[in-house]
Amino acid sequence: MHTDLVAALDIGGTKIAGALVDGRGTILVRAQCATPAQEDGDTVMGAVEEVLGRLARSPLWERATALGIGSAGPVDASAGTVSPVNVPGWRDYPLVERARAAAGGLPVELIGDGVAITAAEHWQGAARGHDDALCMVVSTGVGGGLVLGGRLHPGPTGNAGHIGHISVDLDGDACPCGARGCVERIASGPNIARRAVEMGWRPGPDGDTSAAAVAAAARAGDPVALASFELAARALAAGIAATATLVEIDIAVIGGGVAKAGEVLFAPLRRALRDYATLSFVRDLEVVPARMGTDAGLVGAAAAALARQADTAAAVS
Ligand SMILES: [Zn+2]
Repeated sequence: MHTDLVAALDIGGTKIAGALVDGRGTILVRAQCATPAQEDGDTVMGAVEEVLGRLARSPLWERATALGIGSAGPVDASAGTVSPVNVPGWRDYPLVERARAAAGGLPVELIGDGVAITAAEHWQGAARGHDDALCMVVSTGVGGGLVLGGRLHPGPTGNAGHIGHISVDLDGDACPCGARGCVERIASGPNIARRAVEMGWRPGPDGDTSAAAVAAAARAGDPVALASFELAARALAAGIAATATLVEIDIAVIGGGVAKAGEVLFAPLRRALRDYATLSFVRDLEVVPARMGTDAGLVGAAAAALARQADTAAAVS
């Protein structure tokens, strides 16, 4: 069977985006709702059903052969459930079953949002042409995913590549995940900003204490702002080097709001990689900014649905 179109959902704590996507990754129809993140689980599901309902009103819907979902995590793809940290009404919520019913019985492929972004970068973005890649999102949190041997590697539950919760500081600060010294605890936007303030950085007259404001100060040469980014860069470098040493990736792609800091982040990151990625087979590891924009989650969810269909077709034929 030739795959024509798939439906895709990108579910986050702020918005639920949906699309119909063709086999080249072009978005043909879109629908979007705010996530009622603080409401009960069925109300949140109602917003998902609303987005699917709007897609289904398109005449193109009848050509859709599968639904790919990238969701804020943790997800459990083997159980078909999700428990997004910032959607408290969803704990072990049976999203796959409910979405399949709302989508008229289409087969559903569920992956975590970090894995979805990885699928998108591998298909159309900065990791295109690389068979072994780590893709990361560094923003409010730090997420990621892996491509190994030319294929997306979501792992049994859809969470593989969760680099934000690798510990890179054995006795470091407690992380909300329960561990200590996680990459996310050091390198996420809120932690870059918090640390800068703790070390004595003061915002400008606008009072902006976001990581973007710290990045602007760092670009202007503020030594404390630079030091906070330097620590984040070292944590990221240690996590990336560990990943490369374990599974031999040759490129790490970094997106998300913190990556928009540009060379304020990437220059110390490349320097720190030379300290941590030392063995012959990881020394040439490249680190580059992500290329996919805000549609990465949707395009990646579509890619996962298309890949699953291709596998199914290959198994049948
Ligand atoms: Zn953690």
